[in-house]
Amino acid sequence: MLARPTNFDHHWLPFTNNRMFRETPQMFAKAEGVRYLTPEGDTVLDGSSGLFCTPAGHGRREIADAVHAQLMTLDYTPHFQRAAPVSFELAERLAGLLPEGLDRVFFASSGSEAVDSAMKICLTYHRAKGEGQRTRFVSRNWGYHGVNLGGTSLAGMVNNRREFSGVTCDVVHMRQTWSEEQRYTQGQPETGAELADDLEEICRTYGADTIAGVFVEPIAGSIGTVVPPKGYLERLRAIADRYGLLLIFDEVITGFGRTGAAFASQAFGVTPDIVTMAKALTNGAIPMSAVATTAAIQDTVFAAAGDQDRPELFHGYTYSAHPVACAAALATLDIYRDEKLFERAAALSPAFLDMIFGLRNLPQVSDLRGYGMLAGIQLAPADKPGAKGSLAQRALFDAGLHVKATGDALIVAPAFVSGEDDLEQMGDILRRVLGRAD
Ligand code: PLP
Repeated sequence: MLARPTNFDHHWLPFTNNRMFRETPQMFAKAEGVRYLTPEGDTVLDGSSGLFCTPAGHGRREIADAVHAQLMTLDYTPHFQRAAPVSFELAERLAGLLPEGLDRVFFASSGSEAVDSAMKICLTYHRAKGEGQRTRFVSRNWGYHGVNLGGTSLAGMVNNRREFSGVTCDVVHMRQTWSEEQRYTQGQPETGAELADDLEEICRTYGADTIAGVFVEPIAGSIGTVVPPKGYLERLRAIADRYGLLLIFDEVITGFGRTGAAFASQAFGVTPDIVTMAKALTNGAIPMSAVATTAAIQDTVFAAAGDQDRPELFHGYTYSAHPVACAAALATLDIYRDEKLFERAAALSPAFLDMIFGLRNLPQVSDLRGYGMLAGIQLAPADKPGAKGSLAQRALFDAGLHVKATGDALIVAPAFVSGEDDLEQMGDILRRVLGRAD
């Protein structure tokens, strides 16, 4: 048995029904490989890589050792007018993994910070080009881009935006891409590419010259895995080019092999101007995120500063490029490379998606979606829409499986080190719990 807290009063948990949690806390006290251990010693299979963070599995000694070594060498360095060698090494490694041309990297600590940093890079770029009036952004209904004020404004999951309207900025939302005819589609749906034309409509309505950029998740993750229709991302790319908008792919979930390629941009063959990433960058071990952009964007911003002694970008964090996070990320990238984990994700995907799509006829399941090692299980709503996911999530935990839930959906995203037996066990638990009448 591991220690369970006796006092739950002081820690206010994020995105949690704290009142319910305090009555029946579901906790993890230890983790190894693809399994968590509760304080009572029960094993819980990790079906969502924590929160899409740990494709290399938990308890990786290589990362722990790199973190320890870095702490003992250089535990912290400021990055305002100073730097440490390790962040340049990491930026170069990332440039080698990213789609060609995306090779300038800005570091932060969370996905939310990466998104807000990307928004500021867009604004700074347009101002540098003499188009400072481009201050509006476009995103998509059902989108999730973190919870800082920029990301809250971009949010298409409206509960995340509704209560904070006084402080959000100017964002216009395109329609989301799921439709009835896509129900139970494995991989990319055939229909819906024309929904990208919403971007053109918005450009005409609001004036393209007021818009700085368009943010989308290549696969909408947090809403429950909505895979882009064939041709949709290509069409967004073409419209963004036509109107001089920057296209930003928020790859906080899809980055680092989740689609079977390093980045979803590569899996779908569409290169944006900016990519945001976090989570699996360090296998979740140390908070870290990054924004990658092109030399052209950076050059434009640098050129505007001319020979003035000032930062080109008035933005940065105390923990930008934290050396310990950089060391964790480098060790993680080594694991991905040495164990060929992105290739392994691609190889495991058919067995994973077959397991998921095998849940089709269960009484609680109303739709299934999936691509690579990411899947959504839509549940038939209970009395109140939106409540089913959390009920099912609690029942699955009791049955020995951790998955992420949102509204009436479950999101499954196993680690790439999972074995086929782990996937089978996942399927068994899902069938048992979702096979019940309610
Ligand atoms: N962007 C996307 C696409 C995400 O899925 C998330 C988190 O799930 C974020 C941004 C925010 O990341 P964080 O929670 O690290 O701030």
